[in-house]
Amino acid sequence: MSKAKVTVNDWKTYKRLIRYVRPYRARLAVGLVFGILFGGSLAGMFAGVSKMFEMVFESKEPLPWSAKIAIAAVLPVFAILRGVGDYLCTYMINWIGNRVVMDLRTSTFAHLQDLSLGFFQRNKTGEVISRVVNDSMMVERAVSTVLADLAKQPFALMAVVAIMIWNDWRLALVGLLLFPVCIVPVALFGRRVRRYAREGQQKVADLVSILQETTTGVRIVKAFGMEDYEMERFNERCRAVFSRIMRVTKAQAAVEPIIVAISSIGASIFLLYNMKSSVTISQFVVFAGALVALYEPVKKLSKIHLSIQQSSAAADRIFELLDEPVTVCETVGAVEFNEPVQELSFEHVSFAYEDKPVLKDVCFSVKSGKHVALVGGSGAGKSTMVSLLPRFYDVSDGRVLINGKDIRSFTLKSLRSMIGIVTQETILFNDTVANNIAYGHTDASRDAVIAAAKKAHAHDFILQMPEGYDTFIGERGMRLSGGQCQRLAIARAILRNPPILILDEATSALDTESERQVQAALDELMQGRTVFAIAHRLSTVIHSDVILVLDQGSIVEQGAHQTLLAGGGHYKYLYELQFRESKPGLKS
Ligand code: ADP
Repeated sequence: MSKAKVTVNDWKTYKRLIRYVRPYRARLAVGLVFGILFGGSLAGMFAGVSKMFEMVFESKEPLPWSAKIAIAAVLPVFAILRGVGDYLCTYMINWIGNRVVMDLRTSTFAHLQDLSLGFFQRNKTGEVISRVVNDSMMVERAVSTVLADLAKQPFALMAVVAIMIWNDWRLALVGLLLFPVCIVPVALFGRRVRRYAREGQQKVADLVSILQETTTGVRIVKAFGMEDYEMERFNERCRAVFSRIMRVTKAQAAVEPIIVAISSIGASIFLLYNMKSSVTISQFVVFAGALVALYEPVKKLSKIHLSIQQSSAAADRIFELLDEPVTVCETVGAVEFNEPVQELSFEHVSFAYEDKPVLKDVCFSVKSGKHVALVGGSGAGKSTMVSLLPRFYDVSDGRVLINGKDIRSFTLKSLRSMIGIVTQETILFNDTVANNIAYGHTDASRDAVIAAAKKAHAHDFILQMPEGYDTFIGERGMRLSGGQCQRLAIARAILRNPPILILDEATSALDTESERQVQAALDELMQGRTVFAIAHRLSTVIHSDVILVLDQGSIVEQGAHQTLLAGGGHYKYLYELQFRESKPGLKS
């Protein structure tokens, strides 16, 4: 997502936004009808007031009571109609505004689900959250305001102008001339509003990012004593948001006084004209009233531009997210993968993150049920290599094959359902233990969940929790130890029962006792599956069927432990390096 891009064509963004309103045009039409009722009834109110004044001040002969009551009833009847129109129009339009936001949010979220891992690594979580939550809120406000004003105010304006023409067309002309003059300051300030609104939204996104980072990384913040630093960072962004909002406010607030000044000039012209001409009291009252009544629709209609600018700034940011291309997508004609896995191979695979080449001409093949270990220095490309299997990224060159078929020929869902992943950082959701284990298998029975937990050596500690399997675990499993989290993640993988398994340094962050339990759970999980395990400690890979040694994105050696050790190459070097580090005894 580009940060400070300002689209030149505001209308383009707004028109795109209007497309979201299209499904609700029936409601919009109903809203419009009530808008007409709201605006049109103003004419009726004026007619009522005018008649009353005539009756009170100018009538020569006394009117019968029935006529008096009828005239007196005109004002309240139209006032009530106006109120009803106002209420229902506002309701309808706000309904549409909020629905548009709901649709924007759901389509953005759906799009986010399709985006590849690369997108989430490039963009800050807080930024994404802010676009989905805050920017759409800003859009709602503007869509509702703009549509409500467009539905109501033109009719109010027309009613007032009609009244004026009905009374004296020359004065009506004065009123009408005011309108285009009022547009000038609005247009001038519109650009500023858009620019600062966009900057403001970006700063809010920064705020959310800091909040997100410091809450998820709370341990690190505390451990490094960085509370004051983070507080200052947050305060600084708060001040930045404040300053942008105040600039928007300054631009918006300037418009009204300017319009009032222009209007008052119009009013003075009217009074000058009045001094010379002979108008009746009722005419005078109607005109004075009409001038006052003109103020609201003129003000609101002229401010529509500002609202459009403000919402376009926010909508731009959401559309940028929606326009983010889906790089890993379903191939046309993709089929379900529903056969037993027999062989898995990488065929001259190369891969680059954007322009950075990481894997170079990787070739290897493994039969089902074998355990493959990936070793190599940090940054050698191990994680990248296993990320290609579930198509978190697509290869830049070459092919990844299952049973000799390109994995891109399978549907993403069926391919990924074949693969279980247990990473160093386990992701647990703010839900019950049982639901966390059954993640991806919402229809799993309680017995199946318990069986998986038992195999993962997690059953005992789950039973000790206050509500057993129904205990809620906080976000990121705050109430569990690292080893317990991992065993839940392993239970989740066992329940999923995938033929292919990816273990990414699954035990490297644990103490010895936890590691022993997690390793036991992993042994259970690995049985009968094709496993790709990334491990820093070579002690954990000794029993693997094949060890792939990666160096700078290439497989430099492959084979079993003893063969590689005897070969005296890179593996032996890595092994001896670790052996020296972990002296006096190598864990195994
Ligand atoms: P390993 O798992 O062996 O430590 P990785 O596969 O994580 O290595 O990384 C291989 C190389 O790719 C490293 O140089 C790393 O900096 C780079 N890399 C990893 N992820 C990304 C990414 N999302 N964007 C750009 N470069 C990346």
